[in-house]
Amino acid sequence: MVIIKSDEEIAIMRKCGKILAAILDRLRAEVRPGIKTAQLDIIMAEESKKRGVIPSFKNYRGFPANLCVSVNDEIVHGIPGERIVQEGDIVSLDVGARLNGFHTDAAITVGAGRISKEAEDLIAVTEGSLESGIAQAISGAWVGDISSAIQRYVESKRFSVVREYTGHGVGRDLHEEPQIPNFVFGKGSLLRKGMTLAIEPMVNAGDWHTKLAANQWTVLTADGSLSAHFEHTIAIAGNEAEILV
Ligand code: MG
Repeated sequence: MVIIKSDEEIAIMRKCGKILAAILDRLRAEVRPGIKTAQLDIIMAEESKKRGVIPSFKNYRGFPANLCVSVNDEIVHGIPGERIVQEGDIVSLDVGARLNGFHTDAAITVGAGRISKEAEDLIAVTEGSLESGIAQAISGAWVGDISSAIQRYVESKRFSVVREYTGHGVGRDLHEEPQIPNFVFGKGSLLRKGMTLAIEPMVNAGDWHTKLAANQWTVLTADGSLSAHFEHTIAIAGNEAEILV
């Protein structure tokens, strides 16, 4: 069931989103050649504590870290650890925070040092596809309008959208209905004022197929190609979505 939030509930999510955006800015600035991904996990924990929010992903279904750090051919759910970021890597940071019982969720992909033209294009296209999806997120439209806008945008640039993982409603739970695929699937749910959604295209430079790493968490491109990920939490507000983070 799709949950409609009250203005008061959205106000909490707005506050949570502002804090999460500030944390993500801090993390973005730390991505550089030589940083160990575990250091990003420590920063996520420290910044969350300092700002009064709880990292949403820690222990979620057993996830062992405070954020997801996915490098190069890792699509999502990378576990920060001993890996050291190298010049030319692209690093996806996926973060969630909870405040007063409500979650927000966001992701970015950042280049470390000088990156290839392909990596640069992939990052720009993934971010652009998120914007094109959000442009469809208006009251009276359908989830399918968001999905098809994202897929059309990505495929017009000769990249591919991941099928097995999708965006989602977000609020009291980190994952609520409806699912928001990044590909054409039909109409889906009607978008109404008060819905809060995490829209999150995952885009591969090569084929869309994925595989699961031995750690049973990290999702990789099946063909070893690069992957990027951008995510905003939005509220359906009327003629224009409000970006909460
Ligand atoms: Mg999400």
